[in-house]
Amino acid sequence: MNTIESVKEKMVLVCKVLQQQRLVDGYGHVTVRLPDNRILSTPLMPPGKVALRDLIILDMEGHKLEGLGEPNGETPMHTSIYKARPDVQCILHYHPDELVAVGVAGVDIKVVANCGAHFYRGVPVFDSPILIRTNALGDKVAETLGDRNAVLLRGHGGTAVADNLDELLRLGINLVRTARIQIMASSLGPVKTHSREEAEAILAIERRGNAMRRFLDYYISETLD
Ligand SMILES: [Zn+2]
Repeated sequence: MNTIESVKEKMVLVCKVLQQQRLVDGYGHVTVRLPDNRILSTPLMPPGKVALRDLIILDMEGHKLEGLGEPNGETPMHTSIYKARPDVQCILHYHPDELVAVGVAGVDIKVVANCGAHFYRGVPVFDSPILIRTNALGDKVAETLGDRNAVLLRGHGGTAVADNLDELLRLGINLVRTARIQIMASSLGPVKTHSREEAEAILAIERRGNAMRRFLDYYISETLD
């Protein structure tokens, strides 16, 4: 069982990797579900600049319980998803250009590369650019996400969900990477996409512990070395 301190350390590291990969800038946020209906959250500041002392703890209504910083304006997106999806343990929300580009093009994320296999069940698009600052909007995003692991927000960004921070980082990186490849490939002409069987075969390999370790080791070393 992870202690809160080790979760905090992992969350700060995840944010630094996202920053090093230029997937977050001044905006974006990461949260983790904690026991007793609490949420660990990056505060209202650039996520890549967050230190351990900056992290805050919220209740499931988004009210701050601990910490000096203020909650992000889009906290309702996180609380709504946690309420709708008991399986979700952590959430990343960010605004990479690639996700904004695909989200406005009306083409959906397609599995055009192995790094996109995670998303073969589809990545729905929340059809509004408005920031998710109310519970009503948060509930609509959660409804659009459904049982998938990511959702795009038209003209705004994307949100990925996972059951642990390692997986969240992998999804967060791979969603942008597969979107980038899709944009590149579709500029050349019609693209072929993975079948469900092909995507599931790739995922079976990806789920091996050493595949995840190698992925994380690379990005963490790029960030820390
Ligand atoms: Zn946003």
